[in-house]
Amino acid sequence: MAHNVIQLQPKPPAAKIQYTELFYSLEGEGPLVGMPTVFLRFFGCNLTCAGFGMNGGKKEHTVGANTLEEVDALGITSTGGCDSAYSWHPLFKNLRKTDTIESIIEKIYELLPANLRNPQTTMPDPTWVLSLTGGEPLLHQKAIAAMLHKLVDLGNASTDWLRMRDLPRILIETNGTQVLQIELVEAITRYQGRSTQVEPVVFSVSPKLSNSGEDPSVALNPRAFRSLFATEQESIYLKYVSDGSIESFEEIQRATEILFGSNEEPTSETGAEIIASMLGWVPIYVMPEGSTVEQLRVTAPKVAKMCMQRGFNYSPRLHVDLFGNAVGT
Ligand code: SF4
Repeated sequence: MAHNVIQLQPKPPAAKIQYTELFYSLEGEGPLVGMPTVFLRFFGCNLTCAGFGMNGGKKEHTVGANTLEEVDALGITSTGGCDSAYSWHPLFKNLRKTDTIESIIEKIYELLPANLRNPQTTMPDPTWVLSLTGGEPLLHQKAIAAMLHKLVDLGNASTDWLRMRDLPRILIETNGTQVLQIELVEAITRYQGRSTQVEPVVFSVSPKLSNSGEDPSVALNPRAFRSLFATEQESIYLKYVSDGSIESFEEIQRATEILFGSNEEPTSETGAEIIASMLGWVPIYVMPEGSTVEQLRVTAPKVAKMCMQRGFNYSPRLHVDLFGNAVGT
């Protein structure tokens, strides 16, 4: 690690969740962009990504906050560095909440508009997303596993939970450094088996490149990335942040090859040759660097142009365009 921040690591018991915020908005990035989404932002991260938007420099926070309103007033979502620092930095530890899984699910249900939670609705395709984000949500695997089991149990037990039974589509937004644990593999497998939906669990994997300020030996973890394929049914896409430069896109190419193992010997014991063969069906999205409309106005056209040239998918940052990257959006 290139930084001196002492990380707060979460230690939640499986039946409780440590989180920073729970809110309803539209998914802002990747293939699900624009979909109605409840975001559960877990507390804690193993990285700091101090370089984002700082030209490779370092961003250190010196002032904390006790409320999300104070976080917004500090403007830390738009001044460079990790725009979610309030979900892991020790100065923001007072924002950490602990709640039971039952209570979290009830709150999620209450956040939904009536047509998504009313079993009598005749909406033709009432799909919505539950995004598990952070911080790094895969530091909380036992808690996530317990929540998935509870969702399945509630869906099986009561018609009141019809929408919870058939939905939501679970989106797990990870930095790709955490190996999937057996408890979560089992829970995802059960969750995916409870519905006729084809791809209910989606991993959005955002490996950090040099613009994050992170050491590649920490930020790019092939073993962790390959562990995400464990249930053989989940959907996975990669999402990188770029300034639109040729160098950045070449780094994306190299990072992807490292994660898939396509640069390894085919006889490797890691099964890298099998994973490498999957490279073609894992979509790659590239987002413009920047957490303000003004920053995106500079980087977005460059990234879009490079995506067209290199054949990558472009991802907007819808929540910045619509809401200025405010907390709770
Ligand atoms: S991995 Fe994500 S949440 Fe963690 S420091 Fe980096 S950008 Fe922030």
